[in-house]
Amino acid sequence: MNWTLVSALLIHWYLSLFCQTFYLHRFAAHGMFRLPYWVDRVFYLLTFLAQGPSFLNPRAYALLHQAHHKYSDTEKDPHSPHFYPTVRKMMQKTFEDYQTLVRAPEGLREGHYYPTWPALDRFATTWLHTLLWLGVYALLMGTYVTAPWQYVFLPVHVLMGPIQGALVNWFGHKLGYRNYPLNDESRNTLPVDLLLMGELYQNNHHQRPMDLSFAHRWFEVDPTYPVILLLKRLRLLRFSQS
Ligand SMILES: [Zn+2]
Ligand SMILES: [Zn+2]
Repeated sequence: MNWTLVSALLIHWYLSLFCQTFYLHRFAAHGMFRLPYWVDRVFYLLTFLAQGPSFLNPRAYALLHQAHHKYSDTEKDPHSPHFYPTVRKMMQKTFEDYQTLVRAPEGLREGHYYPTWPALDRFATTWLHTLLWLGVYALLMGTYVTAPWQYVFLPVHVLMGPIQGALVNWFGHKLGYRNYPLNDESRNTLPVDLLLMGELYQNNHHQRPMDLSFAHRWFEVDPTYPVILLLKRLRLLRFSQS
């Protein structure tokens, strides 16, 4: 086994995932906490770099996700697995809705902060952006592969954001147990969610969307929550209520 490539995959997986759950989901979409402007910019840039070719525009992500909560598992939900025969079809529709929101951000909530960085946002929509990242990944992999089959890791790096999004959107509303009998189909897919850093506690999260921790029962673990507490302790973050 090529441990360099495995380590790189794990680091990229969790860095990209952290940016999605911490910055895009909990901060941009829900406004669960506030960040000083410079910290906000650092995380914006980190998200841009970590997600690479699958960078998700934070404002468009926030709008799409707010619609997911508002219309959860109805026909207006941008990615309910109960209206699509396959994961691919669900994600295709999600991608189309997302692209529409990147171009025309509709439904902005008054008083809600939607982070933007016009230059980065614009660059992320170009082919040059995608090609540059492909080049960077191919170059890095080319340095470390010891057998051609190891290039199977490449598409995972390229499609990191959509892969993680698909797992949450599909399984989080289809497979697992429920702590709360909500009107939607949200589920807690894994009792201990180390794989998606708390994102797979969809049932808990839909019950109380502003809870900083997505883990509600004694055995549930939300690895993002202690990071939030640490950042608060370091005064890099303030809770919205305080
Ligand atoms: Zn959900
Ligand atoms: Zn949410």
